[in-house]
Amino acid sequence: MVTAAPQIGVLALQGAVAEHERSLRSVGAQVRTVRRPAELEGLDGLVIPGGESTAMARLAAPVGLMPAIRARHEEGMALFGTCAGLILTANTVSDAEALQGYDRIGGLDVVVRRNAYGSQLDSFTTDLDVAGLAEPLPAVFIRAPIIEEVLDGVEVLAEAAGHPVAVRQGRILGASFHSELTRDARLHQLFTELAR
Ligand code: GLN
Repeated sequence: MVTAAPQIGVLALQGAVAEHERSLRSVGAQVRTVRRPAELEGLDGLVIPGGESTAMARLAAPVGLMPAIRARHEEGMALFGTCAGLILTANTVSDAEALQGYDRIGGLDVVVRRNAYGSQLDSFTTDLDVAGLAEPLPAVFIRAPIIEEVLDGVEVLAEAAGHPVAVRQGRILGASFHSELTRDARLHQLFTELAR
């Protein structure tokens, strides 16, 4: 039996777009970039990359891309938010001043705080035990958000230093780190299976 490859989009306003494309292709997904609402048509899943959430929210505003993503998600499109993408996918951002007045996507019942692991200079890489993965996953943290609170219905897939760093709720996957900056694409594989 031949199953069609899942169609996965990568939000391409700013940030680590090419790296996610490469990781997704390496696990057999059909990948395309998304910059406007019409490009969401027919996608099984969408990756919201790391980068800068305030920049992405501002760039998305003129074409109403954030509410369009939310609407497509409500119709079934899966979401994978990494780092800045996690901030855009979280239902609550506890220090949201710089995002005030701009639409985000929401849907993931967590509270996050931006830049809570420190500055660019405090970036670090660590090996994480992730539920469902047999071997530890290398994870790169760059000005990452901390997941301060996880509400009912959110499954914690991985923790680091006492905080959840990878979570899942229904058809949403969230990670406070960059999983696309290493050659290990097992989290992308997990997402592609979720989206299928
Ligand atoms: N600090 C960034 C923000 O607030 C996120 C950093 C990242 O995605 N690596 O959007």
